Amino acid sequence: MNVNIFEKANRIVRSSDAAYFGVIDEGGFPSVSAVSPVKPEGILEVYFTTNLGGNKATRLQKCNKASFCFREGGSNVTLVGTAEILTDQETKSKYWLDWFKDHYAGGVTDPSYIVVKFTTNRVSLWIDNEGAEFTVGDLLAVQSCCGLLCDGCSYKESHGCAGCIAVGGKPFWGECPVAACCHGKGYVHCGECADIPCDILNEFSCGEDEHSDKPAGARIAVCKAWAANKR
Ligand code: SF4
Ligand code: SF4
Repeated sequence: MNVNIFEKANRIVRSSDAAYFGVIDEGGFPSVSAVSPVKPEGILEVYFTTNLGGNKATRLQKCNKASFCFREGGSNVTLVGTAEILTDQETKSKYWLDWFKDHYAGGVTDPSYIVVKFTTNRVSLWIDNEGAEFTVGDLLAVQSCCGLLCDGCSYKESHGCAGCIAVGGKPFWGECPVAACCHGKGYVHCGECADIPCDILNEFSCGEDEHSDKPAGARIAVCKAWAANKR
């Protein structure tokens, strides 16, 4: 798994106005239906609304195991995890969209209007003819200063690099200026820095170089995920 796949998957999720959502029904079978994610930010968490008295809510109250599938062209992103029903007014107001009034006559305070929070545990995807499977735990394990995922780096074997942390930010090609800056400021990774993304990190992540991220900013997104989901 590399940083580019992570950010490509985030972008597919962010641009989807509909996705397939699977729950376990009363007979123990998977039951899939279409839902509209609300302002999805990426693969780690997805929110949507459903009716409190409906099948999805009833089934989730009995079994919180669930799955999402997002699709774009020939690419797809499957997320497996757990779902939680949120009924507090602060959350309901935060995720309310105007068109929900077609479904909830009482508006944002309608008792049947609930928000479902899906939290991903495992990801399985196929994007741009490349497949990957990984757990969120693996993704959130800090592997470098700049956000690169050394575990999936092809140079690890070919160039005998033990990974950013093991080599102290000095991989086979020399001293990494991002790692040097990070260490100098006393950070483990750039996600801890208020200046992210600075010019140095931007140059590595968003530059024109063949080693820059595609899509641009992928390693920055990983750093931010590490910072936001400290484990
Ligand atoms: S530090 Fe080594 S393993 Fe990590 S991304 Fe750089 S070259 Fe690859
Ligand atoms: S984000 Fe930039 S300034 Fe901050 S630690 Fe990383 S390289 Fe240094």
